[in-house]
Amino acid sequence: MRQILVAGNWKLNGSLDSIKTLVSGITAGEGDAGNTRIAVCPPFVYIPLVAELLAGSKVAWGSQDISDQDTGAFTGEVAGAMLGEFGCTYAIVGHSERRSLYAEDDDFTARKFAAARRTGLTPILCVGESLGEREQGVTEQVVARQLDAVIALEGIGAIGECVLAYEPVWAIGTGKTASPQQAQDVHAFIRGKLAGLDQAVADKVQILYGGSVKGANAAELFAMPDIDGGLIGGASLDAGEFLAICKAGG
Ligand code: PEP
Repeated sequence: MRQILVAGNWKLNGSLDSIKTLVSGITAGEGDAGNTRIAVCPPFVYIPLVAELLAGSKVAWGSQDISDQDTGAFTGEVAGAMLGEFGCTYAIVGHSERRSLYAEDDDFTARKFAAARRTGLTPILCVGESLGEREQGVTEQVVARQLDAVIALEGIGAIGECVLAYEPVWAIGTGKTASPQQAQDVHAFIRGKLAGLDQAVADKVQILYGGSVKGANAAELFAMPDIDGGLIGGASLDAGEFLAICKAGG
């Protein structure tokens, strides 16, 4: 039985004050989340603060991105080893906003995935199709291509040591959630594809769903057999809403 993981992606939001309030709201209610594993991914600069505030809590933290490089003349980059020094467990890689707004392609995403692994972080690898791709009926091809780039670089075994997040781009921040069955269909496709390469990896890997998850729709999504939790954007900025999602997985 795979554990449910609910990870909050705070994106480019927050301030010293608002993050203190948000974290204290989450830690006040984390005890009600049962067995759900909880994580938050703040903007880089707030990671030290969040690490301090979460000391003693069961909530884990991670980054929203990571450099593909380890050290050197790479202005503006943040390396995995630096994130590790501040207690990060996870690093999101390949979020659709990185892919579409910053032109990060499948190979670059795979190199970021590799950087996370070699620095001891667990990558949360995001995959998902755009609205146009869904309408053209190529969702499975897109998701397979995104996964294959990582498998080609790191091997199928590496997928068993990461977290996957299926995030249909048309559902992110739009209020349009994929129906539980739509999400389950793609999750089952991903697990089936992995099973064709390594059954143990397919059985083990947590596949999160992301795209307008809220307290009101989380339980029916998490009840699907291949959905092992959620990657949560907007709703993770509100402690009450985020905890309602966490409880839905408990
Ligand atoms: C996300 O950005 O990963 C996400 C799922 O956002 P939202 O929950 O706001 O759709």
